Amino acid sequence: MSHPTVTSAPASACAPNLVADTICRTVELGLSIDNAADAGNLTHLYCHPVIVDLNCPGCGHACRVRDHVERRLTDLPIAGHPSLLHVRVPRLFCTSDDCEVTIFRASIPQAADDRQTVTHRVTRWILQRMACDGMSVKA
Ligand SMILES: [Zn+2]
Repeated sequence: MSHPTVTSAPASACAPNLVADTICRTVELGLSIDNAADAGNLTHLYCHPVIVDLNCPGCGHACRVRDHVERRLTDLPIAGHPSLLHVRVPRLFCTSDDCEVTIFRASIPQAADDRQTVTHRVTRWILQRMACDGMSVKA
């Protein structure tokens, strides 16, 4: 497996890249692209959620950011090549003593459900291809 070559992030890495977000339509996923790389047949997009819900799913208390983790999601092909999203998602911790939730990964419901490895639009795309084109799941 080849490894992606990532270009160095510019100083404005946190600024939204409207052109890339528009071309790749990551806006509809609630994500903004920070960087990109290609590794053979696979396109890697490094992005972050535009809006993060900082409230605890257990008690509704406002939580604090502990650190960030990378969540990988398969997305629609770009120019015929499969794409993999590397989403930098915050891990949060609840500060309420009465809450059973301690540390959790922030959800990105616009892009994918928790524990899902593909975006919502990939699921929709696969179902459309199977129904309309008779494509197999493996393809
Ligand atoms: Zn809580």
